Amino acid sequence: MFATKALEEADRIATICNACRYCEGLCAVFPAIETKRAFVEADLTYFANLCHACGACFQACQFSPPHEFNVNLPRVLAQVRADSYKGYVWPRALGGVFDRNGLWVSVLAALSVAAFVLALAAFADPAMIFATGSEAGAFYRLMPHAAMAALFGAVFLYAITAIALGFRAFWRGIGPRGGSRGPSIWRAMRDSGELRYLGGGGEGCRNIDDTSPDHRRIYHHLTFYGFLLCFAATVVATGYHYVWGRLAPYAWYEPPVILGTLGGIGLLFGTLGLIAAKWRRNPIMEDQPRRGMDYAFSLMLFLTALTGLLLLFLRATAAMGILLALHLGVVFALFLTLPYSKFVHGLFRFAALLRFAIERQSLTIVE
Ligand code: SF4
Ligand code: SF4
Repeated sequence: MFATKALEEADRIATICNACRYCEGLCAVFPAIETKRAFVEADLTYFANLCHACGACFQACQFSPPHEFNVNLPRVLAQVRADSYKGYVWPRALGGVFDRNGLWVSVLAALSVAAFVLALAAFADPAMIFATGSEAGAFYRLMPHAAMAALFGAVFLYAITAIALGFRAFWRGIGPRGGSRGPSIWRAMRDSGELRYLGGGGEGCRNIDDTSPDHRRIYHHLTFYGFLLCFAATVVATGYHYVWGRLAPYAWYEPPVILGTLGGIGLLFGTLGLIAAKWRRNPIMEDQPRRGMDYAFSLMLFLTALTGLLLLFLRATAAMGILLALHLGVVFALFLTLPYSKFVHGLFRFAALLRFAIERQSLTIVE
């Protein structure tokens, strides 16, 4: 007996797939299933996070609906996967808050912080909100640097702690007992960095019409590396401030601006592409009630990039104060919701790929 209907269904379908084995060349999920004769909850959660939701097995399956076997592996794995995001978060009580309301919680948090920043500025001097000028230190007219550092340092530390504790709980839940981890970590990093299994056996993800592969892999890469570049821009800007005593905003040719601009463009196009690809996907393969959670994370990344780029181009105008407040609000909300958003799918997938690499080494799984 399993704790949820989704786990029961995943067990039923995995048992059918284990007998059928037609899809074993498509991705890592099938070779992983084939190492077992029976499954426990940890195995099914592991398969769910190993799945990249490409949809290729649904299209290939001779038992998919309307066949009476009703085999729909992408959807049931999406349901188990979403349950794992909720089940392993820290603190556990917050999992349910974001599970179905992620979009609204993120938008409300962003607007609240933006309003707080503007109220703070209005309290000090209302003229500051629409003041012009992009000289060094102009951003801190709206909010003193010490207050900004304290607010964002606190939310960043909270996010990192919650993400680390969630990841540890997940690894304890699904990780293999024993096995050599050293070389497997490198293998898992390569597989996740390349999004190797998003290829669905070579043809790519399948769209609603099953005629053309979509480009989710490209959009994922743009989003992932865009996020990393923006993070690098923040780290370099922190060095500028504390090591060299240089105050933001910086000129367009300075490394923090170049990194942030490239990252912002990557995020903008990557997240737009992911949202569009999700919109076009065949809904039968999805965990419909929890689509909002997927959109929330992409939307927050999109808004982070959009407000950041607008701030860059309009920072010498009277719109700077409002745009900075909005950008700070969106970034704060992004970090606050990071441990409970779709962001964790990258870490959980890495953990699943690590288990797969360890088992492949010790059990010689053949792909
Ligand atoms: S998804 Fe269908 S065709 Fe593929 S292994 Fe499972 S039962 Fe067989
Ligand atoms: S990665 Fe694609 S082929 Fe593999 S189980 Fe998931 S949806 Fe099916």
